[in-house]
Amino acid sequence: MSNARGHPNRRLSVATGFFVAMVCLTIVGVSAWRELGSRAADLKNAEVETSNLARSLTQYADDTFELADNFLMSTVSRLEMDGGSPSAVARLRKVLESRRPGLGRIRGLFVYDSAGRWLATSEDIDIGGLNNSDREYFEFHRRSSDRGTHLGNPVKSRSGGQWVVTASRRFDNADGSFAGVVLATVDVAHFSQFFGSFDIGPNGSVSMLSTSGIMLARMPQDESYIGRDMSATELIKGLRARSREGVYYFRSPLDGRERLSSYMVSSRYPLVLLATKAKDDVLAGWRQEATSRMIFMVCLTSVIAIIGLFLVRQLAQRQRMVAALRAREADFRLLAEESSDMVMRVALDERVVYVSPSCSRVLGWDATSLLGTPALGGVNAEDLPRVEQAVADLKRGVIEETKIVYRTRHREKKEIWLETALRATRSPETGEIDGVVAISRDMTEHKDLERKLAALATTDSLTGLANRRQFDERLQEEWARATRDGTPLSLLMIDVDHFKRFNDHYGHQSGDGALRALAAILVSEALRPADLPARYGGEEFVMLLPNTDLQGCERVGDRVRSGLHELSLPHVQNAPSGIVTASVGAATAWPGLAGAGQAMLVAAADEAMYSAKEAGRDRLVSARQPRKSSRVAEEAGAPVN
Ligand code: GH3
Ligand code: MG
Ligand code: MG
Repeated sequence: MSNARGHPNRRLSVATGFFVAMVCLTIVGVSAWRELGSRAADLKNAEVETSNLARSLTQYADDTFELADNFLMSTVSRLEMDGGSPSAVARLRKVLESRRPGLGRIRGLFVYDSAGRWLATSEDIDIGGLNNSDREYFEFHRRSSDRGTHLGNPVKSRSGGQWVVTASRRFDNADGSFAGVVLATVDVAHFSQFFGSFDIGPNGSVSMLSTSGIMLARMPQDESYIGRDMSATELIKGLRARSREGVYYFRSPLDGRERLSSYMVSSRYPLVLLATKAKDDVLAGWRQEATSRMIFMVCLTSVIAIIGLFLVRQLAQRQRMVAALRAREADFRLLAEESSDMVMRVALDERVVYVSPSCSRVLGWDATSLLGTPALGGVNAEDLPRVEQAVADLKRGVIEETKIVYRTRHREKKEIWLETALRATRSPETGEIDGVVAISRDMTEHKDLERKLAALATTDSLTGLANRRQFDERLQEEWARATRDGTPLSLLMIDVDHFKRFNDHYGHQSGDGALRALAAILVSEALRPADLPARYGGEEFVMLLPNTDLQGCERVGDRVRSGLHELSLPHVQNAPSGIVTASVGAATAWPGLAGAGQAMLVAAADEAMYSAKEAGRDRLVSARQPRKSSRVAEEAGAPVN
């Protein structure tokens, strides 16, 4: 049964654990998803940024080469109009020199004749003997009739020694034959400087290539790159198939880093501009922030998980406790219901919240009629304070358990004795005392027996009078009381005369009857409640008379003696009367006086009784009355008469 209950409990714990795990996973999942989102956004931003950069760079390169082209075109048309006469060349030189200050981005303008000799330049150098027929662009124009602008490979300038990018056009003689080449140069460093004005991160680069794959300029500056043939790269190889601009990712063969590149092909010149950023640089900021965010999230989820785990454990523990409690409650019910004792649960307001079925046997009421009623309702008024005190002590936690015996009302019988074990109960949740459980047993029979036994122990079975033991006890009590109150205490000692002979003559049973008759007289003469007639032993009786002086004592003693005499029970062996008679000794003590003692009182009465015997029997003799002086009191034990 407890197993059947255990399953849903375990399921609830598992479900709660699963829920906590799901919450944690969801938090981690959502934050990871957000982080991936912001990573993608960072990459997208970088793509847009590099694309814009590539566009600006292309625009700049286009502008630069357009400027060069303008110079080239105007120079070509001048040359073709003026021809190659020495005076025309001299004018040209002047024009080029005059243009020098307005060249701007253009490093220099050069004119070579059909043999490659320098005709004129904007540079301030001596051009005599210089020949550029070996240059690639010169060779190109000499062989090609194309009159467009040719962007050549970067070369080391003969005039300045630096790397330059070249743009050139051929000019023709009037007959259309090759007359020479006009060249404009732009310093590679100029581009590099311009490229360097953009922030592309520590591992980024900006490159300008010819569409045939020759590196024209690059940032960061590294001379070894200039003029390098990059036609084998994926970008250049696939350029024709690609759109005019785009973004692509690649892993650098040089350092193995992944990079993001935006390229743009110039619409006017055979140029490709490339802006590249290292993916690590792009994501560095995101990585740093994401790491701290993820650390925070992991801490948060750990805290949630730990708290969740703790709660799950608490829940499981609680459920186990509830199950155990239920089982205990069931056990309690079973025990209570099967027990012949009455089991009762009492709330703090002292009302019955549970009572076992045996209450109908013990109290005569069925369980339902007792529920909700005051638990102490039927308790005997005399016992009630004791019971209330016990319950109050239990409720306050002064004691955990106790056992009390008290009287209570039974539905039909007048009153019964209950022996009840009481124990405080505590709430399983708070541990606070929440009531009292009482297990009661009917003790009436036991109590009756006890009373009978007690009576047996203190009464004489033959006469029904108090026995010697009770007399001794009462003597002690009354002595103490008389001492306290300063009152006298008197004692009669009564002995049947020649009783041995009575027995011998009439038989023992008749003797018993005579003793009972004398006992009845003693009872009838004990007028005050405190007077105690008792059988002292054999045919000797006593009568204790508290707060009675010797006179009073003598009166009672004489009534007893004459009472027996008047009964006239025949006793032929008791001369001279021939009836049953008794001799009586009377003694009085003042227990408050120094030297007085109980034994002395008894001895005095006994001696007085013997004096009566000696004086002829069937009479009363008093012990000498002790005076209220210590000296006389000392002599009280030695009565005269
Ligand atoms: P005395 O006048 O000197 O008192 O003579 P006595 O015979 O009464 O004195 P004694 O003490 O010699 O005898 C007491 C007798 O009382 C002895 C016994 O047979 C008798 N007796 C004592 N107890 C009982 C009793 O319970 N029942 C009967 N029938 N006789 C008892
Ligand atoms: Mg005797
Ligand atoms: Mg006698």
